[in-house]
Amino acid sequence: MSMPGRTFALFVSDLHLQASHPRTADAFFAFLAGRAIHAERLYLLGDIFEYWAGDDDLAEPFHQQVIAAIRAVSDAGTAVYWLAGNRDFLVGPGFAEAAGLSLLEEPHVITAGGKRIALVHGDAQCTADLKYMAFRAQVRDREWQQHFLGMPLAQRKAVIAGLREGSREAQAGKSYEIMDVAPEAVKALFDATQASVIIHGHTHRPALHDTGGRLRYVLPDWELDTEPRRGGWIALDAEGTLSRHAVQPFRGLTG
Ligand code: MN
Repeated sequence: MSMPGRTFALFVSDLHLQASHPRTADAFFAFLAGRAIHAERLYLLGDIFEYWAGDDDLAEPFHQQVIAAIRAVSDAGTAVYWLAGNRDFLVGPGFAEAAGLSLLEEPHVITAGGKRIALVHGDAQCTADLKYMAFRAQVRDREWQQHFLGMPLAQRKAVIAGLREGSREAQAGKSYEIMDVAPEAVKALFDATQASVIIHGHTHRPALHDTGGRLRYVLPDWELDTEPRRGGWIALDAEGTLSRHAVQPFRGLTG
């Protein structure tokens, strides 16, 4: 049952958390303790971590810090949900149990105030990027994942470091359009889910797009350690009203 005045759900993505970006992590922790703890639900929509090499990396001190911060929100009574991004798709049941959250498959549809809202990370809709789509099909394959997770942790981290370097180089050669979601893929997602709203991240192009009355909300990425400083989230109330909120880099969290 929804309590009046209580936020129904909050949505965030693309924190790209890493120990070398402590201000970004601190802003996320402030968001969790100051905002998410007062919501009924928190949806983490992918690329929360810059990378995830496997659940046998849970004990790493920075990971422990993130897990404890999410766990505190879950322990306080907020239902926390996780949808994988293209960088942290190897998060599994070990992480979910430690952080007190539930893993979702995309697209995940929720309803509020009679409105159907489809949640995805957004990478699967970048269908014009054929090289990325082929890579995605490979790394989302169960057998590939089992083989990869069978390698020693240090070796997996080395492979991921190589992939990240390769992805930076590949992105430099791709056009603005290729790296965005494709209109046909967005339409297909609206049609398949019968949703009137889509919320996604991934593209780092925060916006609200109205396509013939169907709304697509794009979440921002978070970066508080380098310029331009940015971050934010989307809130949903029980009546189905959505609002976008920005992190104020020098004044803490507002909105
Ligand atoms: Mn992404």
